[in-house]
Amino acid sequence: MNIIKASSPNFDARTLEISLLILHYTGMENGEVALSRMTDADAKVSAHYMVETDGRVFQLVDENKRAWHAGVSEWAGETNINSNSIGIEIVNGGHNVPLPNGDLPSYPDVQINAVIALSKDIMTRHSIGPFSVLGHSDIAPARKIDPGEHFPWAGLAAAGIGHWPQHITDDTRIVFERGDRDRGVSAVQSGLAHIGYGARVSGVMDEETVKIIEAVQRRYRPTRIDGVVDMQTMDIVKGLVEVKTSSFI
Ligand SMILES: [Zn+2]
Repeated sequence: MNIIKASSPNFDARTLEISLLILHYTGMENGEVALSRMTDADAKVSAHYMVETDGRVFQLVDENKRAWHAGVSEWAGETNINSNSIGIEIVNGGHNVPLPNGDLPSYPDVQINAVIALSKDIMTRHSIGPFSVLGHSDIAPARKIDPGEHFPWAGLAAAGIGHWPQHITDDTRIVFERGDRDRGVSAVQSGLAHIGYGARVSGVMDEETVKIIEAVQRRYRPTRIDGVVDMQTMDIVKGLVEVKTSSFI
């Protein structure tokens, strides 16, 4: 794999073993602007890699160093995600730079193929399982929505990166929505925490839980992101819990 060096001063020392791969979109006008920001010492942001829309891969930070891409985030009880992850920024304007008609800009195949090749290489070298490949929105659901509902997670899962729910129900009847208080909400929250999400078991569909449900939907059911626990969302959460329980991936 041809990798272009573009050194960033924005890194420090890792204090944890690498166990996660985090995918982002840049959310800026183009790759050039994103690269200049991530290599600017004043910006204090970076990632290990950036993948351009034409498939070119830039390396900004050595994998053994701690790049600054995650911000305030949490997964499986760990909050120092910069220290235990590798971050890939994928050039895409996302929600910040939509197309003139309002649609989200699609990720070209050549770019996604490069993301797949790079991710597989990283996963192999660091023994990162498919369940440990996450979106920024998974680790910071209250703040972040990248790489977005237009990111082809299903295609990545078909290539062995990430998980994609199979055989889920079409039933979208509402089970729990914002403000509901129920023992069942606690069960959903513990399920989310078991998957790895930074969910607290409060028994209430509070704002934090709604945001996590949105993150689950953004990734696993991109056609409808409403923060409501309907039958289908419930099915997706249950499926994720089962996969997580039945394997060590
Ligand atoms: Zn991000």
